[in-house]
Amino acid sequence: MPRMARHSRNDRAGIELPKARVDRESLREALGLFRYLRPRFGRFVAAMAALFVGSLLSLSFPFLAGRMVDEAVARSGAVDRTALWMVGVLVAQAGVSFFHSLSFASVGQRSLVDLRRDVYARLITLPMAFFARRRVGELASRLSADLIQIEDTLIATVPQFLRQTILLAGGVALIAATSLQLTAIMLSSLPVLTVLAVVFGRRTRRIAREAQDRLADTATIVEETLQGILNVKAFANEGYELDRYHEGLRRFLAATLRGARLRAGFIAFVVFALFGSVVLVLWSGARLLQSGGITFGQLTRFLLYTTFVAGAMGQFAELYTQIQKAVGATQRVRELQRETGELDPASLASAAPAQPRFRGEVAFEDVHFAYPSRPEAAVLRGVSLHAAPGEKVALVGPSGAGKSTIIALLLRLYEPVSGRLRIDGMDARDYPLAGLRGQMAMVPQEVLLFGGTIAENIAYGRPGANRAEIEAAARKANAHAFIESFPKGYDTPVGDRGIQLSGGQRQRVAIARAILKDPAILILDEATSALDSESEGLIQAALETLMQGRTTFIVAHRLATVRHADKIAVVSDGRVVESGTHAELQALEDGVYRRLSALQFRDGPVPVDSAQGP
Ligand code: ATP
Repeated sequence: MPRMARHSRNDRAGIELPKARVDRESLREALGLFRYLRPRFGRFVAAMAALFVGSLLSLSFPFLAGRMVDEAVARSGAVDRTALWMVGVLVAQAGVSFFHSLSFASVGQRSLVDLRRDVYARLITLPMAFFARRRVGELASRLSADLIQIEDTLIATVPQFLRQTILLAGGVALIAATSLQLTAIMLSSLPVLTVLAVVFGRRTRRIAREAQDRLADTATIVEETLQGILNVKAFANEGYELDRYHEGLRRFLAATLRGARLRAGFIAFVVFALFGSVVLVLWSGARLLQSGGITFGQLTRFLLYTTFVAGAMGQFAELYTQIQKAVGATQRVRELQRETGELDPASLASAAPAQPRFRGEVAFEDVHFAYPSRPEAAVLRGVSLHAAPGEKVALVGPSGAGKSTIIALLLRLYEPVSGRLRIDGMDARDYPLAGLRGQMAMVPQEVLLFGGTIAENIAYGRPGANRAEIEAAARKANAHAFIESFPKGYDTPVGDRGIQLSGGQRQRVAIARAILKDPAILILDEATSALDSESEGLIQAALETLMQGRTTFIVAHRLATVRHADKIAVVSDGRVVESGTHAELQALEDGVYRRLSALQFRDGPVPVDSAQGP
C-alpha cells in the first residue's frame, strides 16, 4: 500500500500533476462554499432532519405494502387498517417534504445571494491589471453561468443526493433482513457502476468545463459586438461578426455534443445494469416463493425495496455528474475570489474613512513605469513633475508619449515600478485607496452615462446628494438650461450609453458630476473632437468654475486651451522634457513646445498629439 501511494505521488509529480491537483483542490474549494451556509445553519440542520424523516417515511411504504399483501392472502380484516396507516404516512410525508423543499431553497438561495454579492464585490475591486488580462464578456458569463450551476447543486442536487443515500442504505438494510441471498444478487452490479460513475464523471466534468468556456467565448463576442455596434455597422462587418459568432457556437456545440454522447452511453449502461438486476431479483424471488422460502408479502416488499435501491443507484450517476459540474464551476468562481483586490471588499459596505481634505500638492519623483501586461516596454522613464496646490498643469506631447499613463498613476490605477508619487508631501501609497480617489474627480474624454435619469447621473459624483445640490451643480456646469428644456427635466432617462445627449451635453453632465464631488484634485482629459463654438464656450466657462481652488491636471490635445495653464509639461517618450508657462516655453529655442505650436499655428487647429515626437 505505501508503495502504491508513493507511486501515485510520482505520477502526480510527472505528467499527471495539473489534473491531480485540480481534483483534490477543487473538491476542497467546493466544500469551502459551505461556509456560506453558516449564517443559516439552524435551518439547514432542520431541513436535513426533515429530509431524513421524509426518507424514513418513504421506506415504510414497501413494508406496509408487503404487510397488506400478506393480510390479503390470509383474508384478514386488517387490510383496511393498514390502508389507513398508509394514508397517514402519505400525509406526513407530504408535510415533511414541503418543509424540507422550502427550507433547502430558502437556505440555498440566501447563501447564493451572499456568494453572488461577494463575487461581484471582488470583481469590481480588482486592479486594472486584472481587467487587462481578461475579457469582460467572459467574466460576465462566468458570473452568471457558474453561479447558476452552483445554485442548482445547492438547492436540488445536494438534498437529492442525501435522500437517495438514505433510501439506498435503508433499502439495502431492510432487504438484507429479509433475504441475504437476494440482496447479494441485487447488489452485484454496484461495484461496476461505482467505478464507471467515477471514470465517466471525471471525463464529463472536463467536457462540461470546456463547453462552459466555449459558451463564455460566444458571450464575449456578443458583448464586444454590441458595445462596438457603431463600428460594426460603419465597417459593414455584420457578416464577419456573424461568422465569428457562428464559429464560436459551432465549437460550443461540438463540446456539448461530446459530453452528451458520453452521458448517453453511460445512462444506457446504467439503465441496462439496473433493470438487469431487477429481473434477476424477480426471477430468484419467484423461485424462492415457489419453494416456500418467502411469502407473497415478503416478495412484494422485496421488489419495492429493489426499485428504491435501483432508482437511487440510477440517480447517483446523474447526481454525481451534476456535482462534478458544480465542482468545476466552483473552481472558477473561487479562482476569481482568490485574486487580490486593490480594496478590501468588506470595506465597501461602510463609508470610506474620513480623510482630511488634501491641499492638493502633487509630485511625481523620478517615476518609472511599464504596464504589467507588457513589463518589457518602459512607458514612463523617469517622470518628475510638481504641482503646487491649486495649480493648473497641462500635459501636452505627441501621441503615445505617456500622458494618460501619468494620469493612471495619479489615480493609483497602477503603481510605479520605481520612483514615487507624493500627495501633500506623503507617499500616495500611505493613503487608503478609497480615501485618495475620493478626493479626485475626472472629466474624461468620452463621457459614459449610466442607464438612469440625468439627476442620477449627476449624483454619481456624490451618491446621496439631494435635488437642490444636484441642480446647483448643474447650474455651475452650464447644464441646467438644456436639462430644463427636456419635458421631464432632471428626470429625463438617458440611454444605455447616454445616446440621447450630444457630446457637449454629456461633457457638462460630467462636469456637474465633478462639481458635486468637490475634489481637491481634478483631472481633465480634453475631448479630441471639436465642439461647436457655442458649446465649447459653455464648457470652457463651466470648467473654469470647476477648476477654481483645485489642483488640476489637463491632458490637452489642442494648444489653444492650455495657454492659460500655470504650468505646461511637455511629455515625450516617457519623460517630462520641458515644463513652464506658455511664454517660458515659447522662449525656448529648439523647444518641443515651440515646434508643436508652430505646427498648430501653420496648419490650423490640429491636435498637438497627432504631431510626431522628436
Ligand atoms: P494619447 O495622447 O494618444 O492618448 P498618451 O500620451 O496619453 O497618448 P498613453 O496612453 O499614456 O499615451 O500610452 C503610452 C504608451 O503606453 C503607449 O505606447 C501605449 O501603447 C502604452 N499603453 C497604454 N495603455 C496600456 C495598457 N493598458 N497596457 C499596455 N500598454 C499600454
